[in-house]
Amino acid sequence: TTRPKSLLYLDNVCVSFDGFKALNSLSLVIEPGELRAIIGPNGAGKTTMMDIITGKTRPDSGEVFFEDTVDLTRQDEADIARLGIGRKFQKPTVFESHTVWDNLELALNRSRGVFATLFYTLTDEDRARIEEILATVRLGHRRDALAGSLSHGQKQWLEIGMLLAQEPKLLLVDEPVAGMTDAETVETAILLREIARTRSVVVVEHDMGFIRDLGVKVTCLAEGSVLAEGSIDYVSNDPKVIENYLGR
Ligand code: ADP
Repeated sequence: TTRPKSLLYLDNVCVSFDGFKALNSLSLVIEPGELRAIIGPNGAGKTTMMDIITGKTRPDSGEVFFEDTVDLTRQDEADIARLGIGRKFQKPTVFESHTVWDNLELALNRSRGVFATLFYTLTDEDRARIEEILATVRLGHRRDALAGSLSHGQKQWLEIGMLLAQEPKLLLVDEPVAGMTDAETVETAILLREIARTRSVVVVEHDMGFIRDLGVKVTCLAEGSVLAEGSIDYVSNDPKVIENYLGR
């Protein structure tokens, strides 16, 4: 069999916890440069899928390949992060007592294996990179503010910026707009589309307005496998999706 030229390739992935099939023959392909939205009811397996991709959980069976040839089931979490897969969890974990700039500087240093120091000299190139990230995550005007003083939405954006400092090829984002204002939610769709110009992004969200704003291919999971996949109009009109998710 020939595999498609893919950034991420999951084929027939199964994971059980005490006999319960959290993933039941899940297959999914993410193209290089793709922004993909993942929806589905609680317990559908969305988090488990992210855990499989990042090496936090091992599949019982099935294939997981990165860039066609790298078998992620044989890599540990640290290796997978180094390969260029970044993950943003739902709850922001920024350093609240540091400024926005310093958070990004720490993230940049950390991506080079320099931990917990702000005294590692930045090159002009590093400064330009931080400026670029600040602009991407809409925080240029808040660079000197303490991260703890940011709105919830801005903290989410800062954390996305900290992940960008590591130059991931694939960014996994878990429920970014939960708790955001309407304006922040709209801006987040624009921001993620911009980020996906230079890398792939997989975003798990329940907010259907946001998913519609993203305007990208949607995958609906249920009971550990793909229920429907396609445009938001196609997926949201699928009777199985209405029955298992939207109609609930
Ligand atoms: P989602 O993120 O779509 O809500 P999850 O991947 O969190 O779904 O969960 C899928 C199912 O697997 C759930 O029923 C959950 O209780 C179960 N599950 C997930 N992780 C574990 C675990 N570490 N141990 C036992 N059961 C788990």
